[in-house]
Amino acid sequence: MWYNRPMKTLVEKIDVDNIGKQQIAAAARLIQQGGLVAFPTETVYGLGADALNPLASKRIYEAKGRPSDNPLIVHIADFADLEKIAKEIPKKGWILGEQFWPGPLTMIFQKKECVPLETTGGLDTVAVRMPNHPIALALIKASTGFIAAPSANASGRPSPTLAEHVYLDLEGRIPMILDGGPVGIGIESTIVDFSEAAPVILRPGYITKEMIQEVIGEVSMDPGLEHSNSAVPPKAPGMKYRHYAPRADLILVEGQQENVISAINHFLEEARMQGKKAGVIGTDETCGLYKEGIIKSIGTRKETAVIAKHLYALLREFDDLDVDIIYSESFSREGIGQAIMNRMIKAAGHRVLKV
Ligand code: AMP
Ligand code: MG
Repeated sequence: MWYNRPMKTLVEKIDVDNIGKQQIAAAARLIQQGGLVAFPTETVYGLGADALNPLASKRIYEAKGRPSDNPLIVHIADFADLEKIAKEIPKKGWILGEQFWPGPLTMIFQKKECVPLETTGGLDTVAVRMPNHPIALALIKASTGFIAAPSANASGRPSPTLAEHVYLDLEGRIPMILDGGPVGIGIESTIVDFSEAAPVILRPGYITKEMIQEVIGEVSMDPGLEHSNSAVPPKAPGMKYRHYAPRADLILVEGQQENVISAINHFLEEARMQGKKAGVIGTDETCGLYKEGIIKSIGTRKETAVIAKHLYALLREFDDLDVDIIYSESFSREGIGQAIMNRMIKAAGHRVLKV
């Protein structure tokens, strides 16, 4: 059978501006048969399967090595389909959907019977998103209308922002990757939970708390997000795992810019003396100030969106360089900065040094 490992992974280049009907049809057939297809979205590449087929969902967990209690996001292409899989949708949920869909926003509601527990990690709620990417939308429409898709990385690795990342992680484990080029945003969607009395942000993303509050009024942040060792576990099961992680140890250094630079220079010297290969994540503004180590810029501090877009690819670049330890500057938590810092802190396994 096609899903026996190892299998050949077909990489289909597909042009966003002129989407090949045959490629979409072939990918859609795979999904309809319960198979897996990796595809681009505006946030990161997703690994898709028919969300209403429990066996298909199980294959996602197998291919990624994802813990089975970590639920999948169901992707739709038509706003009206929301009601087919979710119930008790509050007015504010409809309003947010109208405002931000298609887009990098995931909303959680009570699930309807048709959504299998295999898709929701055993929960009676379902996470739903309408992605803003023509290839993703075409694939969803041409297949089953409901595609469960987590990020298309091997579990624990940085999310893929290029088809090549997917190939490196999942080659031989999935039958097809639709290569639509680099993604636009580079960080996963904002997740808002509507399954309780008041809306709560479970994962920060490109759509910020402020943007959401402007539309529906007060929303809170999941208290489990803020504190690493708090007694409160994060409500999105996926947020409790070390995630987005490079192979090397990552240490975030936070403080005034001059202090950060001199602390990192000191750590680099120490690392060299210990015979360790060290890397630095700096910015266009600061890279020239580091004295040794493998120094890479994540972008300019003037454009936070670019920093978001480069983050995961940069972490993967360090993997290829076989460094033992990476020291990174920190970023402002304004706007999308909140999502960037959330992912970086997780990638660092909460090792943040204040200087
Ligand atoms: P990924 O698609 O890899 O970005 O991961 C999806 C994220 O959404 C994970 O952190 C999940 O734990 C979270 N998630 C999905 N469905 C639910 C749900 N029903 N309740 C809470 N969190 C969810
Ligand atoms: Mg993920």
